[in-house]
Amino acid sequence: MISNLLNQDKLHDLASRLQDARHIVITCHVSPDGDALGSSLGLMHVLKRMGKNVHVVTPDNPPRQLQFLPGIKSLVVATRSPEVARSHFERADLVFCLDFNAMKRLDEMACMLESSRAVRILVDHHLGLEIDADIVFSHPESSSTSALVFRMLYQLGWLDKMTLQSAECIYTGMMTDTGNFSYNSNDPDLYEIVAELVRLGVDKDRLYTLVFNTSSESRLRLCSYALYDKMRIIPEINCALIALSLDELKRFNYRKGDTESLVNVPLSIPEVSFSVFMRQDEPEYVKVSTRSKGTFSVSRLCETYFGGGGHRNAAGGEFHGSLDEAVEYFMSHVGDYPAFNEE
Ligand code: 5GP
Ligand code: MN
Repeated sequence: MISNLLNQDKLHDLASRLQDARHIVITCHVSPDGDALGSSLGLMHVLKRMGKNVHVVTPDNPPRQLQFLPGIKSLVVATRSPEVARSHFERADLVFCLDFNAMKRLDEMACMLESSRAVRILVDHHLGLEIDADIVFSHPESSSTSALVFRMLYQLGWLDKMTLQSAECIYTGMMTDTGNFSYNSNDPDLYEIVAELVRLGVDKDRLYTLVFNTSSESRLRLCSYALYDKMRIIPEINCALIALSLDELKRFNYRKGDTESLVNVPLSIPEVSFSVFMRQDEPEYVKVSTRSKGTFSVSRLCETYFGGGGHRNAAGGEFHGSLDEAVEYFMSHVGDYPAFNEE
């Protein structure tokens, strides 16, 4: 039995607002990952079956590895088609905000959501909610937004509306945000949900292969190079740091998504409690991605130093400046990092 997420009042409110809605936009965070896209597309398929006019609008392009997700071709990408994205927001009477907690996670697209007068429903699992919405499901204890969307649909009694396409999207989101059920994955409900999804026909082995075991040659070489040549261990603070420059990314024919999950690998060293990956996306812009084990809070670290956030064990942020400056900035605060251990 999957436990309830919503109380009766919220459930009725949600059901009636969904009934009234005709034009629905579903949106998620910039650089959408498996959970952001999985929850959005999974919900889209169900709402379409309910006869709604639904569009998933993302701030920017999805990564190559997720091109297999059913429905991904129908995405409206704001950087590619800003006018189309804007018109969907203007027309919408209901907007779902999935897998993000702050307007800045929408990048340039934030103004489209801000100016929309649609009913807003937020479903998210990040720490530190900063967005107003008419209905809020903010559950940082949940390992993924996709699991929250499933539970919402389940409680609405709409499981019979869930197609295999929807189930594949939801499963992909749950799998990616738990590293194939290897962290944040001790909640027994997760496996009740997985059982339902597999009953709907999900081939979980196939989805695992597509997401975690499919690489281009250049991606494998880039990640190998990063670990062999670029990984730096800072033993005083039990940290691993990898920084890749624009030139290095070019050399290995970098494509969006190629460094996904690289930041996890150094955590396999028992002495490493947190891992930091810096990628120079532009000459003066560095994307920072962090992971930790146990009680070390990388979300606090990213909030404090990189204008970001996320979860205790997985968080991100950014640095405005060159890659060398980012590394120097990080190293100049080495003495502060033990404070992020929340033991
Ligand atoms: P990743 O390292 O996989 O990009 O992100 C890890 C987690 O941190 C995800 O839950 C993601 O949503 C969050 N995150 C990544 N970058 C940022 C950021 O710049 N700001 C905030 N607030 N969260 C981020
Ligand atoms: Mn997520």
